[in-house]
Amino acid sequence: SGCGAVEGERTLAMIKPDGLSGNYTENIKADILGSGFRIIKEIQVQLDAERASLFYAEHSGRSFFDSLIKYITSGPVLAMVLEKPDAIAQWRALIGPTDARKAKTSHPNSIRAMCGLDSEKNCVHGSDSLESAAREISFFFGDADSETVEHDEL
Ligand code: ADP
Ligand code: MG
Repeated sequence: SGCGAVEGERTLAMIKPDGLSGNYTENIKADILGSGFRIIKEIQVQLDAERASLFYAEHSGRSFFDSLIKYITSGPVLAMVLEKPDAIAQWRALIGPTDARKAKTSHPNSIRAMCGLDSEKNCVHGSDSLESAAREISFFFGDADSETVEHDEL
């Protein structure tokens, strides 16, 4: 690594406050590594309402927005850059559907089935497109292209 070769696509994964407080981090990381992703960077950070609203700006008009911001700021999150061929779609497949209740019946081996509760408290995030992944990775890590695993505080 570090020689400029394209080793795979990158996506932004995030363990949400319920995932961290429920002590699911090690299980989630085991699923990540066991599915062939590399964890390129990670940072644990407490978002405030302003930063959270920026992260979820696309949902600002939705009925659930205020509740979503309260949820995502209720404790720290762990953001990670994951790398693998087709990482964006592969990570979305591994976490399962948005509604964790549906995940438990239709995708019982998914991460949201393991640690999610409902359509809001679903324990993990995944970028939904190349554009979202680039924006979300910059949101947490800036535009630097280091492959070093980082544990800095924002
Ligand atoms: P995903 O995280 O699967 O990409 P969305 O981008 O649609 O889902 O929504 C972002 C987050 O907002 C979800 O992960 C969830 O925490 C919350 N959310 C989505 N839909 C609802 C809903 N109908 N009610 C409450 N919270 C929701
Ligand atoms: Mg989304």
